[in-house]
Amino acid sequence: MGKVRECLNCGMQLAQSSIDLENLPPALSCPKCDENVYLQTDGSCLTRDIAHNRETIERALDKLDECLVAAWSAYAAEVRVIVGGGRIREQILGQLQYYRDQGRVIDYSEDSPNYGAILIRIRH
Ligand SMILES: [Zn+2]
Repeated sequence: MGKVRECLNCGMQLAQSSIDLENLPPALSCPKCDENVYLQTDGSCLTRDIAHNRETIERALDKLDECLVAAWSAYAAEVRVIVGGGRIREQILGQLQYYRDQGRVIDYSEDSPNYGAILIRIRH
């Protein structure tokens, strides 16, 4: 058996399905209580630095997607990406606008007063 996802509502253990960023939110109904276990959140925030290891823009965009997959695989409500103040930040903001238009993220905002971080909401 692969990774297990626990239903936060009733405790049922389910086999975790793979996360496809083009089909969000993932749909997996708990057979016991019928909730979509991928909409469940523990309210946590996943933080990752995607800009301070000399990443190229392309690599930073990949890392953004990796963060989103990790957050959907877990129970996070938000993802906080550290983007710095340069071109990566502009590219990530552009990508997030696209993702919001596509419904892949709920919303995002600059993590004021920390200009170099962006807070992304993925679950209610
Ligand atoms: Zn359940």
